[in-house]
Amino acid sequence: MIGIIFGPPGSGKGTQAARLQEDLGIHHLSTGAILRGEVARGTALGKEVGRIMAAGDLVPDDLIVDVVRARLPEAERGVGALLDGFPRTVAQAQALDRMLADEGHRLSFIVALDVPEEDLEARLLHRAQVEGRTDDTREVIAERMHEYHKLTKAVLDHYREQGVRIDTIDGTGTPDEVFERIRAAVRGISSG
Ligand code: ADP
Repeated sequence: MIGIIFGPPGSGKGTQAARLQEDLGIHHLSTGAILRGEVARGTALGKEVGRIMAAGDLVPDDLIVDVVRARLPEAERGVGALLDGFPRTVAQAQALDRMLADEGHRLSFIVALDVPEEDLEARLLHRAQVEGRTDDTREVIAERMHEYHKLTKAVLDHYREQGVRIDTIDGTGTPDEVFERIRAAVRGISSG
C-alpha cells in the first residue's frame, strides 16, 4: 500500500502522518523532514537546499525525486508507505508514477486535508513559537502558500484524472478529531 497525505502548509500533514505510522505501522516518509535533516547535518544536499527552503520555495524536482527514489523501496516494505510533502508538482507526480510502475505498483490512495486558508497562517505562526521552524515567518509562509497554489494543488487534479481514490478530510478541530476522521477513511480503503 502506498498513499499520499496531501494538503497546504499548516494543514497538519506531518502530525497526522506520524500518528498513522504509530497506529497502522505505515512508514511515514516526509520529504520536508528529510531535507531539514540534511540541512542540520550540513551535507552537500543540505547546503544546496538550505537557502531555497528558508525562502519558502520548492527545491528542484530532480533533487527531490532522487531523495525519494533512494528511500522508497525501504519505505514500502511491510505495511507500506505514506508520502508527506511529495509529490509537490505534477512533474514529481509523474516521476513517482514511473517509479511505482517500474516495481509493478501504483498509488493506492490520497488523504487530502482540508483547512480554511485563514486558519493555516495562524497555525504556522503558532508552530513557529512552539517548534521554532525557521520557515514559519509571515513572509516565508506567504511564499509557501503561493507555491502550493501555483504548483502543488495541480497534483490532486493529476490523480483525479487517473481515478486514484481521494478522500478529502475536514482538517479542522483537534489533532485527535482529525486523526479519527482519517483513520475511518483509511479503514475504508484497506477493506476495499
Ligand atoms: P510544509 O508542508 O509545512 O510547507 P514541509 O516540511 O513539507 O512543510 O516542507 C518544507 C520545505 O521543504 C518546503 O517549503 C520546500 O522548500 C521543501 N520541500 C519539501 N518537500 C519538497 C518537494 N517534494 N519538492 C520541493 N521542495 C520540497
